[in-house]
Amino acid sequence: MAKKKIVAPLAPTPTWTPRPFNGLRCHCGERHYQNARYYVTVRRDDGDSRALAGPFAEHDEALAWVSKTTRVANDRDPRAAWYAFGTAAIKYGYDKPGMLNADLGLVA
Ligand SMILES: [Zn+2]
Repeated sequence: MAKKKIVAPLAPTPTWTPRPFNGLRCHCGERHYQNARYYVTVRRDDGDSRALAGPFAEHDEALAWVSKTTRVANDRDPRAAWYAFGTAAIKYGYDKPGMLNADLGLVA
C-alpha cells in the first residue's frame, strides 16, 4: 500500500487593513522605531534566524502573516515544528524580500 502523504490545510491568507495608532504605541502595545520595517522571522534551535516574510510597513501587518508563514515553513521543513516564529523590526533601509515571499504570494 502506498504511503499517503498527510497535507495540512492551508492557513487562510490574512486580510489586513491599517488602523490608526493610539499615540506612539503600536497595537501590540509597544513603541517602535520610526520608519522601521517589519518581518515575520524564524529562529532555529541552533540560534540562527531568518527573515521569512516582508518587509511590511506596519508591525500589525507582519503579525497578521505569522500564522500563514509558520504553516508554509512547516510544509518546507519538518524540523520547523521546533523553531520559534515571530516578528522583528529592522532598521529603515533594509528591504530584502523575505525568503518565503514568493511562496506566500507576497510581492516585494
Ligand atoms: Zn508593534
